[in-house]
Amino acid sequence: MIESESLPALLFFETPEEIYARVFRALRPRTPLPEMRVEFCQFANADSSVSLRDGRLRVRISDLLAGAPAPVIEALAFILLGKLYRKPVPRMYAHRYRLYMNRRDVRRQADLVRQIRGRKFLSGPAGEHHNLEEIFERLNAQYFDGLLGRPQLGWSRQAARGMLGHFDPAHNAIIISRIFDRPGVPPLALEYVVFHEMLHLRFPVNHAGARRRVHTREFREAEKKFSRLREAKEMLKRL
Ligand SMILES: [Zn+2]
Repeated sequence: MIESESLPALLFFETPEEIYARVFRALRPRTPLPEMRVEFCQFANADSSVSLRDGRLRVRISDLLAGAPAPVIEALAFILLGKLYRKPVPRMYAHRYRLYMNRRDVRRQADLVRQIRGRKFLSGPAGEHHNLEEIFERLNAQYFDGLLGRPQLGWSRQAARGMLGHFDPAHNAIIISRIFDRPGVPPLALEYVVFHEMLHLRFPVNHAGARRRVHTREFREAEKKFSRLREAKEMLKRL
């Protein structure tokens, strides 16, 4: 995809520090330029961060982006400095950054790095009250003709309400919130969440351009096959 905006030719000859200095001046024209340090760090993911301490600006960029083209580094500068100074990020930059991160080769590299560096916590499938392996196999037989390969199954460390379930393709793992491993929680609610994550295993995320389609139409259609779907969703609201 080609972006319609024209890029300043200068951009391609700037160091990352110079890019950050220029973006800083664009966002804070009257503030004296702080001392700047831009480093590429080995993170387990593509997260980058910026901090301002004692008048010194420190930018830490995931080394996944070490080989990224200058316009992508510039876009990230607008995103990070925008966040730091609570300025809205122009859509053009947000879009450009997302487009790059969604590139197939970049995503594959990010997955690999996560696999190698990420020491993801993973409990076994057996909780105190429920066994995810049993639930998986029951649902597998009922809805997938038993054909779904079993991924790693585990409980989250914390009883999170924000994320009830999660399929992690890098680790081929389904993680379920501990909140479900309690005596009072209806089994149907837990089954539905496991089923939902199994659908993520069955229907991988569709990356089309900058858009990430997680719940595709076929995903939604397949989800409707879950018996007592509405009842289960209602239960989740009352957790
Ligand atoms: Zn989902």
